[in-house]
Amino acid sequence: MKILVVGGAGYIGSHMVKQLALSNHDVVILDNLSCGYQDAVKYGELVIGDMGDTKVLDRLFSNNKFDAVMHFAAFIEVGESVINPGKYYHNNVSNTQVLLDAMVKHDVKHFIFSSTAAIFGEPQYTPIDENHPQNPINPYGRSKLMVEHMLEDYDNAYGLKSTCMRYFNAAGADPEGELGERHNPESHLVPLILQAASGRREDIKIFGQDYATDDGTCVRDYVHINDLCEAHSLALTRMQKTGNSARYNLGNGKGFSVQQVIDSAKQVSGKDFKVTITKRRAGDPAVLVADSTLARQELNWQPKFDQLETIIETAWQWEIDFLVRQ
Ligand code: UDP
Repeated sequence: MKILVVGGAGYIGSHMVKQLALSNHDVVILDNLSCGYQDAVKYGELVIGDMGDTKVLDRLFSNNKFDAVMHFAAFIEVGESVINPGKYYHNNVSNTQVLLDAMVKHDVKHFIFSSTAAIFGEPQYTPIDENHPQNPINPYGRSKLMVEHMLEDYDNAYGLKSTCMRYFNAAGADPEGELGERHNPESHLVPLILQAASGRREDIKIFGQDYATDDGTCVRDYVHINDLCEAHSLALTRMQKTGNSARYNLGNGKGFSVQQVIDSAKQVSGKDFKVTITKRRAGDPAVLVADSTLARQELNWQPKFDQLETIIETAWQWEIDFLVRQ
């Protein structure tokens, strides 16, 4: 297949590109490099441009007959979305609509969308399945939910089929060491901990130790990046076979507390580092764990890197390699 990966120079997108290319798909990457890295594109053809630019899209879709589009080009910082919602609605919603309109115009019928657990808001029960009420509590979550609604309407009106992949906590790195997680500034737990372990950071701060969990720290559902990408490939195959749109919550189904992730990182790295307890971060629910039964049943998705240690080992390898490359 010929697949356009929008945001393919970012963390999840670059791993997806590798997996698609190694499965013999023809991959074109569209990325404006606002958050992604050119050297993260190890496979396929990179087009530097913005998904909100109709001229770029017209050229791209006229020159290539794509079978599907995968979209990873969203801003993802919850805190920033509260301070600067315009940035989020512009890129995550308006620009996504420009991309969808180009697909409709050029008759490309299959779309895979990076969505998020943030569309659910404060959990009313856990683990969270696809029927959980959707009440996002920040502009980031709302921007993703708006696109999910848009996709339903585009399916009904234009027959554009989509699959929404709601990630819980993507983590880990390419086990072959070619790719990894790089955000600037970094805000995600696993890379921050490993930067403390490698000495790039003075400490790791735990945002709150007074939650109603076993050890008082927040529990999250960490899924290995390769397993997430595998779910995307399976979803695309299924969508093409059934002709139906779908949405899946993607997680390990197992939660780990911030403290457990820190303990595991200490063990995997063999390093001790400073841990500081600070106050809660606004908008963090105590527990966020996915019920991925639907993805396991309908897609036959079976996460392979489901041990926390394995996820951290791959990320630690990336951190060590990063230091060597510096
Ligand atoms: N967290 C933390 N210290 C940090 C960064 C994150 O204690 O420096 C916690 C955060 O409160 C949450 C978990 O780690 O409970 C995962 O946070 P992350 O930002 O990685 O992902 P999110 O759950 O926000 O998608």
